[in-house]
Amino acid sequence: MPVTQDQLKQIKTFIYEKACKVGFQGARVSDISTSGYFEAFKQWVDDGFHGDMSFLERNQNLREFPPQLHPNTCRVISLRYDYLPVNASFTKPLKDTSLANISRYALGKDYHKLLRKKLSRLCDALRTHFNQIEDIDTRVFVDSAPVLETAFAEKSGIGWKGKHSLIINEAAGSWFFLAEIFINLPLALDEPVKDKCGSCNACIKLCPTDAIIGNKKVDATRCISYLTIENKGPIPLELRSKIGNRVYGCDDCQLACPWNRYASVSSEPAFLPMQNLGASRLLELWNWTEEDFNTNLQGSPIRRIGYQAWLRNLAVGIGNGPFAPDIISQLEKKKPDANDMVLEHINWAIEELINKNGQQLNLQAKTKKLINCVESMLARDA
Ligand code: SF4
Repeated sequence: MPVTQDQLKQIKTFIYEKACKVGFQGARVSDISTSGYFEAFKQWVDDGFHGDMSFLERNQNLREFPPQLHPNTCRVISLRYDYLPVNASFTKPLKDTSLANISRYALGKDYHKLLRKKLSRLCDALRTHFNQIEDIDTRVFVDSAPVLETAFAEKSGIGWKGKHSLIINEAAGSWFFLAEIFINLPLALDEPVKDKCGSCNACIKLCPTDAIIGNKKVDATRCISYLTIENKGPIPLELRSKIGNRVYGCDDCQLACPWNRYASVSSEPAFLPMQNLGASRLLELWNWTEEDFNTNLQGSPIRRIGYQAWLRNLAVGIGNGPFAPDIISQLEKKKPDANDMVLEHINWAIEELINKNGQQLNLQAKTKKLINCVESMLARDA
């Protein structure tokens, strides 16, 4: 028996209410067409802005046509989950370059498993509640398959795509994760919202590596998040001094964004900073052994980059930080544990510390501007 309009309405309401109960802050429905979005994505990949993320080159048909990824899908439900930890300082690691500056989404536990579990609970509850309807079919995604997630989030009205290419919600800013449920029911569609970036260019101006190369277009090969997380090789020499103390990801475009003055902090305990990661000294992290790295970061997304990439990033951070007499010997001490790539970064850091170059001044000027921008935003809203 076909599902009635009335049942579809009830199902949508149930999904929205249950999504909130399991912890999501928003859920909205879009159709499955990727028209316009897919072409733009494909062009971005063809232009090489995805760097070495070869997984973005594969499975293009699945990305373009959701039913090829999961048969009979006719709607995408996009959901958002706030992650800004309650005690994450906005400016401390920007002001004190001897601290490690770690992207706020990575201060606590990895979100993939947590969100996937919540989505599965939601879908199980849906099937149980509407058990008189046969064949409700769903599949859940958390950053785990070829899904054009920002396209669906934008189409559904979760928010608009900012010039920095992240989704912004008018009431909640951009500090949230996205997740999706593919479903085989023709739920009523939600409307997209208006792009409200207007004439603002704050994220473009304040990006430390000038990675935002156009409206909603980021050159990943210049983006600090890519360089310190996805990138397996050396960090390009010309970008190292611009990275400053950002050792895992970068939040600067989000910090600069005026819409984030409306961001709410997450009440999710799993996202509270582990191991004091919100304010750890670079040298303290540098002195972790590989065993410490694996033990201390159990359950953290940072562990996925591996110890050598972690040392690579820290070497760059330390090289960009303040000089102190014992730092050189601490850098030297790690050489026996380092692979060739890390060794080269250690040597670079030592050289940098001894002989700072002009780019550092440029970074400091940008960072100072960013701190002023965030502080005046916070002061205005206090
Ligand atoms: S900083 Fe300005 S331009 Fe960038 S995403 Fe936010 S509102 Fe849009």
